[in-house]
Amino acid sequence: VTDSASSPSTVQLRPDLTTIPVYVPGKSWPGAIKLASNETSPPPLPSVVSAIAEAAAGVNRYPDNGAVAVREALAAKFATTVERIAVGCGSVSLCQQLVLATCSPGDEVVFAWRSFEAYPLVALVAGATPVRVPLDNEHRHDLDAMLAAITDRTRLIFVCNPNNPTGTAVGRSALEKFLDAVPPHILVVLDEAYVEYFRPDGFDPEDMPDGVAIGRDRDNVIVLRTFSKAYGLAGLRIGYAVGSPQVIATLSKVYIPFSCNSLAQTAALASLAAQDELLARTNQVVAERERVREALLSAGYTVPETQANFVWINLGDSTEKFAQHCAAAGVLVRPFSSEGVRVTIGDPDENDAFLAFALSEGATSL
Ligand code: PMP
Repeated sequence: VTDSASSPSTVQLRPDLTTIPVYVPGKSWPGAIKLASNETSPPPLPSVVSAIAEAAAGVNRYPDNGAVAVREALAAKFATTVERIAVGCGSVSLCQQLVLATCSPGDEVVFAWRSFEAYPLVALVAGATPVRVPLDNEHRHDLDAMLAAITDRTRLIFVCNPNNPTGTAVGRSALEKFLDAVPPHILVVLDEAYVEYFRPDGFDPEDMPDGVAIGRDRDNVIVLRTFSKAYGLAGLRIGYAVGSPQVIATLSKVYIPFSCNSLAQTAALASLAAQDELLARTNQVVAERERVREALLSAGYTVPETQANFVWINLGDSTEKFAQHCAAAGVLVRPFSSEGVRVTIGDPDENDAFLAFALSEGATSL
């Protein structure tokens, strides 16, 4: 029995959590054109919706904790084995599991900055230390600087390829050179959430990075992919990791039981069955991305070449004003304070609405 006079009167929470920021998702409201979260604009295919509806009748039962059917379908897709595949509640959950699987408190997680907002958060929640390595002047990964940031506390390196929010990509040869230089006890996570939007145009086809192929013979490489973007299932939360069986097996120890739900698993299977149709949709996104980028460049904006389903506009101090005026015009983009905005490529009409604002005198004179 504790002495109530000396014990605190409020719940004792982890003190370090008070300094960890909360993940802030892109905002929206009914009627707004939301180009803030890198989702796909078209709804899921009818075949996927009916598979979800059918599976809904079985949600009185728990999902398959091992997601075996999805992992088998992915193993067939990548000509590999199920032992090399883990499924998670979105790839963001796998980011957290990978940090929990590799880092003890005080260990370091290296990543480029800016990059995906969740990397520092999942590191901090695990008690690890985020190490941010600035992007180069062209908004690309500075792989040499990332190598130089490695210490004897480094346990994990995230390489987001293409990078969120800048859309810039690391080519295959640069990536392989980097991986050759990373000590084999450090896990490198190639986060390929947007890989389906890679196109060789403006990019040497021989140099197309494919993490799954690159990681096949490297035990310290894990590739992350998701059904949230090109596969259009952001609302259901399912992503996957491909890599060495030893790392994959350890991910199940830090998996929240049943967190990848049965509707998500069913939808992922139905989407893999329709992947040709879904991947064909990415062609329009890529064509629109080039159209939007060209229009922005002609208007004098700085927009790096992008291999993702979004563009980055470097705006410096005008960032907040640009995003606010854009929202007032009914289009929501994602501002990154004093740096720039990330604009998701939507349907042609949505992109036109964004360009009508971005090319207006009010925006270009900000
Ligand atoms: N990685 C990157 C680079 C992302 O941009 C995102 C989503 N914004 C994710 C991972 C997470 O995606 P999800 O959890 O929906 O699979």
